[in-house]
This record gives sequence, structure tokens and C-alpha cells, in this order.
Amino acid sequence: MMNQATTVKKRVCPKCREADMTDFSKCRYCGTPYNATGLSRQIEYAGFADRLIAHLIDHFILSAISGGTFILVLQSCPAFAHHSSMGPLTSAELLAAEPWIAGWIFFNIIFVLLYYCIMHSTAQATFGQMKMDLKVVDLRGERITFMRALARYGASLLSGVFYLGYLMFFLSDYRQTLHDKISGCLILKENNTRLY
Ligand SMILES: [Zn+2]
Repeated sequence: MMNQATTVKKRVCPKCREADMTDFSKCRYCGTPYNATGLSRQIEYAGFADRLIAHLIDHFILSAISGGTFILVLQSCPAFAHHSSMGPLTSAELLAAEPWIAGWIFFNIIFVLLYYCIMHSTAQATFGQMKMDLKVVDLRGERITFMRALARYGASLLSGVFYLGYLMFFLSDYRQTLHDKISGCLILKENNTRLY
């Protein structure tokens, strides 16, 4: 099946041909008012429910990988593997297991970071976002670079503080969370609307 993520087209100013995916009343580049052209209503930003469900799908995938690799650690780590009795681990066994646990935590941090940054800078969506027909773009509607994806991921940790950055979605003209705003990203809902 063809990836739906290819259906969103860039919105291009009829006068200067610059692409602009923010919902300004006029072109950001040449000032042509959009009201006459109808361009202002042709972008569908992703809704909160779609984004939440996408997030939960990604969370499920990442949790499964995290859990799977933890089982691998339990089986591979000599301190656990040689612990035959059902009793609690001795302090020596716990000490021997520490680097394995630390390694597993480090792996998880890097894996989650790379998952978001690589998916966003290549496929323009995580698996959860693909499932919900969402697409991450920059303000011109282009695929984001790895560095922009990294900036967005970093800023998402900031948004996670009391979820305030996520709630900014409801105050945003372009349905942007704090980390979308900081990194200059938009999340679009896929549809077949022609944006030219
Ligand atoms: Zn223009």
C-alpha cells in the first residue's frame, strides 16, 4: 500500500511561489493576502486526539522494545543468570548487575531519541503518526532535518514538565505545542486536498 504520508502537498503562494504552511492571512514572503485565493483554509493541522493516539501507539512500541531488551539483560547478565534460588539477590550480585542495568537505561535513552529523530527526518512520521495519517513538516511544508528533529525532541522534554508545553496546543493558532513552536514544526493531518 502506498504511504499516505505523500499526499499532503505544499501550499504555494500564487504570486511569489514560496511555500508557507502557517495560516497567516497573507503570504509571509511577498505579502499577498490569502483571503482572495482561499489558501488560508487549505491546511488541516492534526487534532489533539489524533496526536494523543499516535503518541500512545509509539509509547506502546517503545515500551515493548524496552521490556524485551530488559528480559534480554536479565538472561545475559551473569549475576542474574547464575542466581538459581528464588531468594533475593545478594549485594554482590546486585553490584555485578549494576553496569548491565545502567547500560540498559543508556540504550533506552538513545534508542527513544533516535526513534523520533530518524523517523521524523526520513519518513516524516513515527509509526504512531503514520497510523493516524499525521505528518511532521517545517513551516514551509518540507521534511525536517535530523537536527531540527533533535531540537524538537529536546524541546519535548521541556513540554513534558507538568504537560504545560502540550497544553499550549489549545492556545496555538497553528495547533503547535511548545516543542513544535521552538523547533519550527507543524503536524499536519493527511488528506487529499490540493494545496496548490
Ligand atoms: Zn508570496
